[in-house]
Amino acid sequence: MPMAIQIYDRASKKENHLVDRYGRVATKLRISVTDRCNMQCVYCMPRGNDKWFEDRDVLTFPQIIRLGQIFAGLGIEKIRITGGEPTLRKDIERLVGALSKISRIKSVSMTTNGLLLSSKVNQLKDAGLGGVNISLDTFKPDRFKAMTGLPHLDRVKRSIDAALDAGLEVKINTVVIRGWNDDEVVDFAKFAHDTGITVRFIEFMPLDGSGIWSHDLVFSKREMIAKIEESLGRLEPSESKSKDATYAPAKLYSIKGSGTVGFIPSITEPFCNNCDRIRITANGYFMTCLFENPGYHIKPMLDSDRSDSEIREHILQMIEKKPEGIAGIIRTKSLRPALNMMNRIGG
Ligand code: SAM
Ligand code: SF4
Repeated sequence: MPMAIQIYDRASKKENHLVDRYGRVATKLRISVTDRCNMQCVYCMPRGNDKWFEDRDVLTFPQIIRLGQIFAGLGIEKIRITGGEPTLRKDIERLVGALSKISRIKSVSMTTNGLLLSSKVNQLKDAGLGGVNISLDTFKPDRFKAMTGLPHLDRVKRSIDAALDAGLEVKINTVVIRGWNDDEVVDFAKFAHDTGITVRFIEFMPLDGSGIWSHDLVFSKREMIAKIEESLGRLEPSESKSKDATYAPAKLYSIKGSGTVGFIPSITEPFCNNCDRIRITANGYFMTCLFENPGYHIKPMLDSDRSDSEIREHILQMIEKKPEGIAGIIRTKSLRPALNMMNRIGG
């Protein structure tokens, strides 16, 4: 039996909570609203990808809202909207508004590449969006084009400013790949120091869709910390901030003087024991784990006349089967490039 810390007392397992067989409780839901994207990041989807879900296969807003309500009744408190690129979904602010009005949902946030964000940020904020994670992997224009396929670094920078001006909580997500951008971790830490914006460094995961992932490309949390400390002095682990659900699952560190950086060491220090998240893909698969493939197709239940309680029952049965996660895959040495694309899952 794989090892996992029991963080929930199964004897006192409450009804209507998403508790899996290891005792982990899901309280956060990531909803991918589209697999489409206006960038082609090297670590996320194959270059030239033009295979998108058919419109008829994508969850409608009423279906997403219904799922949001069902999941809120099962203990979900926080929803993150993702994609593909969520700002490409028409009227996305309407969805944000509806999800943030669901009772028991404490926050609705979004992960975005920032290309279109500046033009929509005020509507999103007015609709109830609490925060944005903006993905940015380099400050170098040429490298930005090499990593994303587009020459629009300035647009992303503008969106960061616009999101701050709108009063949103802003974090930066930076995927670090050896040989691509590991030489910029210090620049990103300086950016965190100078601006007060938290930068979360993410280890490269084998979900790139083109099979380029290899262990050698993973620039580890330990290596990142060593590089940053060489230039900026000791990073102080911040237990209190790491416990703050806003930053999870990042491990947070304070920079000497000011600023905070976080690390999401999915490969070298997997945090499956404490996993509290579940996912819905744009085409209506329920994924109890990021490394589950393909998950459980629940859109057919929404398309048919199945009742909320039938759907809820089904979800409770699926969560029970949630796998241990990447920790177990690594332990059994079966981690290898996966052709599952992150743009289809939502990160
Ligand atoms: N398009 C939006 C964006 O880029 O922020 C949202 C979707 S994207 C799939 C969500 C997050 O997953 C981004 O922060 C992205 O950097 C991250 N990501 C994508 N592929 C990854 C991979 N192979 N390993 C680690 N993180 C990845
Ligand atoms: Fe698009 Fe985001 Fe994937 Fe980049 S990481 S290709 S922006 S979905």
